[in-house]
Amino acid sequence: MKKEFKVIPLGGLKEIGKNCTAIDCDGEILIIDCGFAFPEYEMFGIDIVIPDFTYLRDNMERIKGMIITHGHEDHIGSIPYLLQEVNIPIYGGAFTAGLIKNKLDEFDLYADINVVSAGDVFTIGNYTIEAIQTNHSIVDSLAYSIDFPGGRIIHTGDFKIDYSPLDGKVIDLNRLSQLGDEGVDLLICDSTNVLREGYTPSEAVVRKSIDEIFDNNDKRIIIATFASNVHRIKYILESSMKHHRKVAFTGRSMDKSMQLARELGYLLDIPESILVSIDKIKDIPDDKLTIITTGSQGEPMSALTRMANDNHKDVKLKKGDMVVFSSSPIPGNEKVVTQVVNKLYEKRVEVVLASAMDVHVSGHAAREELKIIHSLVRPKYFMPAHGEYRHLIEHARLANSLGMGKDKTFVMSNGDALIVNDDQAKIAENFTSGEDIMVDGYGVGDVGSIVLKDRKTLSQSGLMVIAIAIDQATGSLMSEPQLISRGFVYVQENLDLIEEAKNVVYNSLGCCFEKEIYDEATLVKTIKSDMKAYIYRETKRNPVILPMILYV
Ligand SMILES: [Zn+2]
Ligand SMILES: [Zn+2]
Repeated sequence: MKKEFKVIPLGGLKEIGKNCTAIDCDGEILIIDCGFAFPEYEMFGIDIVIPDFTYLRDNMERIKGMIITHGHEDHIGSIPYLLQEVNIPIYGGAFTAGLIKNKLDEFDLYADINVVSAGDVFTIGNYTIEAIQTNHSIVDSLAYSIDFPGGRIIHTGDFKIDYSPLDGKVIDLNRLSQLGDEGVDLLICDSTNVLREGYTPSEAVVRKSIDEIFDNNDKRIIIATFASNVHRIKYILESSMKHHRKVAFTGRSMDKSMQLARELGYLLDIPESILVSIDKIKDIPDDKLTIITTGSQGEPMSALTRMANDNHKDVKLKKGDMVVFSSSPIPGNEKVVTQVVNKLYEKRVEVVLASAMDVHVSGHAAREELKIIHSLVRPKYFMPAHGEYRHLIEHARLANSLGMGKDKTFVMSNGDALIVNDDQAKIAENFTSGEDIMVDGYGVGDVGSIVLKDRKTLSQSGLMVIAIAIDQATGSLMSEPQLISRGFVYVQENLDLIEEAKNVVYNSLGCCFEKEIYDEATLVKTIKSDMKAYIYRETKRNPVILPMILYV
């Protein structure tokens, strides 16, 4: 008899971001990935969003370790926040481990980080885990097969099927098929590109396009791409070398990623001599220089955005330069990327976008690739992951179309648990809290929905502070009420409105004093509601109104 087990997604469902899943069986918990998400449009001032760790916090002593599929932020970004609460061993590929270590250094944290390679089998408590080669847009991406007293789970991580990846390491379909033959209880699979028909093209396609650009060009070429896509950066380096160009890197994450790639030996056949420091590019002719930069997502502080805004220290863009976006905007970033592109056009820079030329391919499997994985693994149960709601639903339908029963596919929410035993699997809804935990500066989780609502109102309609001093002995006003406005109206240009607003305050106070009401709560409430009504009548606006009463 197999033991009952639970799979508890804490993040990454009905969203793309903050992937984190816990497996709980026979008293031991294993965590897969621990990422963060970028804030949504209306999360004013929020830096990042992390998973709700309540379940992990409550069962801290039972957590045995954490396995990481790859080094993207939506899989590693929250590790420091979890590690501040519970220190557990971490397992992942070499590049993944390096990125995690860099991240922990920034937080002044130490962890037991173990490097694993595809094909390795290792144990964490009762869990025996095998790392399986996959292909994705970052090196050292792994899927995991996890054996434990409850059965076997295969977690694909983010992947695509690339038969000609640049490092020659093709996803290990053979091993997935063998495991499928032996029997897999649950498949947890990437759903990002389930809405795309066919196959995601190979990275080899991008190499061809990059070569074409270099072949036919005497311009200074500036390429923006993801710092972690070491393979792609490597062939930009190779192509530059072939065309007798020197290469400079710019952007903090680019510098860090390249340093790590070099330490791990991923850039061994690139001679140091072709690299040039970004502050030494002045004397290099345009047709002998490539600049590889961060900022492909239009990030405000990134090197490319600074170039576009004319405040990059070393790179001044000019007519005749070419900027290549070897990336496509992550959903939600389209607008900021477009802003950067427009600024580049204003500078008469030639812009090459992935939408016009194959200078980027996705790192996620399209429909036909997903079908291959389902056919090879043939799991008993299936949980679509890594996708918005529409992706999860479509992925479940895809599994159904391949013959899997509807009662065996589970579209879940963060915080639900899938409970699996010998006879059946079922969802326990709201098993634990699966909230978005917002991080603002040093504050983790202290900004909740009420603070956000205030920020939203402040951002839309501004603020009016009413300062009132009351003589405690006589119960009368000490002086004229002070009205201070921010983001609502400009006081100097609206003196009449402000004067009349003062009268509203006098009236409110007068009514209260007449009834011998002096307590702060009632005064504040009365002034607030009278002022709100007055301001709305006069301006059709709803600023935050903040009466402050001082008893002297
Ligand atoms: Zn990824
Ligand atoms: Zn991801």
